[in-house]
Amino acid sequence: MESKGDKSNRQLTGDGISFRDVLLSGVLNCTKVVLLEVPWGKGADWNYSGHWGRFCNFPLSGQSMSNTSSLLLSAALCYSNIERRHVVSPSVIIIGGGFAGIAAARALQDASFQVILLESRDRIGGRVHTDYSFGFPVDLGASWLHGVCKENPLAHVIGRLGLPLYRTSGDNSVLYDHDLESYALFDMDGNQVSQELVSKVGEDFESILEETNKIRQEHSEDMSVFRAISMVFERRPDLRLEGLAHKVLQWYLCRMEGWFASDADTISLKGWDQAIFLSEELLPGGHGLMVRGYRPVINTLAKGLDIRLSHRVSKIARRYNGVKVTVEGGSTFTADAAIVTVPLGVLKSNYIKFEPRLPEWKEAAIADLGVGIENKIILHFEKVFWPNVEFLGVVAETSYGCSYFLNLHKATSHAVLVYMPAGQLARDIEKMSDEAAAYFAFLQLRKILPGASAPIQHLVSRWGTDVNSLGSYSYDRVGKPHELYERLRIPVDNLFFAGEATSINYPGSVHGAYSTGIMAAEDCRMRVLERYGELNLFQPVMGEDTPVSVPLLISRM
Ligand SMILES: Cc1cc2nc3c(=O)[nH]c(=O)nc-3n(C[C@H](O)[C@H](O)[C@H](O)COP(=O)(O)OP(=O)(O)OC[C@H]3O[C@@H](n4cnc5c(N)ncnc54)[C@H](O)[C@@H]3O)c2cc1C
Repeated sequence: MESKGDKSNRQLTGDGISFRDVLLSGVLNCTKVVLLEVPWGKGADWNYSGHWGRFCNFPLSGQSMSNTSSLLLSAALCYSNIERRHVVSPSVIIIGGGFAGIAAARALQDASFQVILLESRDRIGGRVHTDYSFGFPVDLGASWLHGVCKENPLAHVIGRLGLPLYRTSGDNSVLYDHDLESYALFDMDGNQVSQELVSKVGEDFESILEETNKIRQEHSEDMSVFRAISMVFERRPDLRLEGLAHKVLQWYLCRMEGWFASDADTISLKGWDQAIFLSEELLPGGHGLMVRGYRPVINTLAKGLDIRLSHRVSKIARRYNGVKVTVEGGSTFTADAAIVTVPLGVLKSNYIKFEPRLPEWKEAAIADLGVGIENKIILHFEKVFWPNVEFLGVVAETSYGCSYFLNLHKATSHAVLVYMPAGQLARDIEKMSDEAAAYFAFLQLRKILPGASAPIQHLVSRWGTDVNSLGSYSYDRVGKPHELYERLRIPVDNLFFAGEATSINYPGSVHGAYSTGIMAAEDCRMRVLERYGELNLFQPVMGEDTPVSVPLLISRM
């Protein structure tokens, strides 16, 4: 699946006979795919002609063949110059080795495609990153399975691996991935907020959100969630909260901002709950933490795939019957099709040049969809000195000043707290050094637990500035339609798109990314089949051969 130059991605025809016809006639059988990396040199030709004629190095010099005999001659040369090869399955290049990319690669390899995956980092997983430097697994990216049920597209892998989950909530919690069963909230002076007040403000928060729903229906123009909440307070002063209750409300808002990785004044009122309420595919089963981390899942899916690490794609050229992908350093790869799964933030940065440019509607979708930031500052302590609850919180005057610590000791028995800032706060903390960021998190903890001892180790994620992600996950921006996710997914010729930001039902999630990878693989398979009609070559990529037989292992202490 390789080539060395540009020019002749046109269908090679001579006197009305296509190159494909020649191949089919049995004269030429030189299409065995060899996954080679060829340096991209000046003047080299891109002698690529789709999966029927891939990797034939006969000299075409960028001209189409003038007649059949010259084509046959070249074909004969090709036949004699290289080893006897078989007509093979089509080829695809997957760009990005997160859950979407690995899922697509797995599905297409299982469907007899020649697959090569190019990943810019020196590891797979993308925004799933389990770190073992503490001597046990901790996730710097995703750590929850949202929707612990057999309908979850990842359930079959997680179930078969026997990976344990720790339940942090059932369905329909106002706090998304937690319920109010096991927690402790404090004010800035270290006084614990009563559970009655927290529950009461939770109900108020739900009432406020219901009121914002009325505002949404009354206004054709979109607005931010923050603006809508302010309007609710104007028309329903009885819902306004004062003093400590106001601070607790800010803490609920802070958790909502964490869910969207963005501040309330940037989140679309029309869009914020689209994926949650309008989707018919809302997954039941609540939320479960991956106790052993997500790494075993991605490693299992990636087994046996041809993955090239440290291959940062800088250019994607598409022609009628193939794609050519250039990586940093100049090497190029060619194939029948490509699936782009790089994060939305990377697409927004325009680091990858598309040739020809992507259509306007696609560029607009990339520009208009929001990408937010949520980070993790993981603090490892010598021993546990905090209450035995699932999470700790600090309430404050504004959501920016509030804090949230996930207590991993509950789920994993390790003395670890995970501080998770989002939106502007996360952006500000990314400007600090790792040490300063860890100290900042520790200071928040010391506000509520003055006797807290310093952590012995820390880990700090930087999803916003990491060039491989440039953001944590997508969200609906004010005034932009939810359909942008779908527009981002829609293929452009032989370029397919996958990744969490292409999931209309489950954006911003691991299972969402995974299902878009499967979907893009199926779209790609269908396109190649339509083009070449090799129906008997492939297995369908959708769905599992066998139904889920292993139940998920979830518990709560
Ligand atoms: C802090 C945090 C917490 C989260 N928590 C959860 C959670 O608990 N549960 C949940 O379901 N979801 C969670 N998410 C979201 C989830 O991690 C993502 O939705 C999902 O992992 C995205 O997968 P993806 O394949 O779309 O993208 P990615 O995983 O980002 O994969 C894209 C890949 O493309 C690579 N790449 C980038 N540029 C190039 C290039 N030029 N050339 C080649 N390769 C390139 C990247 O290195 C990366 O490996 C969280 C995310 C973050 C950041």
